[in-house]
Amino acid sequence: MSPSFQESSIPTSSQLNDSNEGYTTSSKLKSIVWEHFTKEKINNEWKATCNHCKKKLNGDSKNGTSHLREHLRRCNKKGQVDIRQQVLLANVKKSDGQVALKTASFNQDVSRRDLSKLIVMHEYPLSTVDHAQFIKYCSSLQPLFEMPSRSTIKRDILKIFKEGKMKTMSNLEANEG
Ligand SMILES: [Zn+2]
Repeated sequence: MSPSFQESSIPTSSQLNDSNEGYTTSSKLKSIVWEHFTKEKINNEWKATCNHCKKKLNGDSKNGTSHLREHLRRCNKKGQVDIRQQVLLANVKKSDGQVALKTASFNQDVSRRDLSKLIVMHEYPLSTVDHAQFIKYCSSLQPLFEMPSRSTIKRDILKIFKEGKMKTMSNLEANEG
């Protein structure tokens, strides 16, 4: 057997814990960033290829990950990929314990809208989006979901109310009785 990809291509944790990063960034945050990049050695240099737009950035561990995070914020392919992104779901079959794979898609806009509706319908506080455990819960279900800020969710809710009001008005107009 040839050595596994992990052994040959992924730098060790001591290489990652360089002076630029170690103290300011948690290893958790670092690993989330690496879910969006593929690390590979090209011409003896570490490159981080964006999984969304395939742009190659410096992947040398001594440069840290802040430029990668900055790219993710700006990457215009990321949103589009999110919509079409096919997530593999593992379904454990009861009878023989075999795992079947099923696909599902994730759409940031649909999820954000569902979150707005959730807050309205159950009268959750707007601060729900700042609750650490709620953020953790959402991230465990879909790491690509970007939690909206309190003001963004407020805007979304007002928009939903406006649309709802218009729908009611046109229903009333249509109903002569
Ligand atoms: Zn990109």
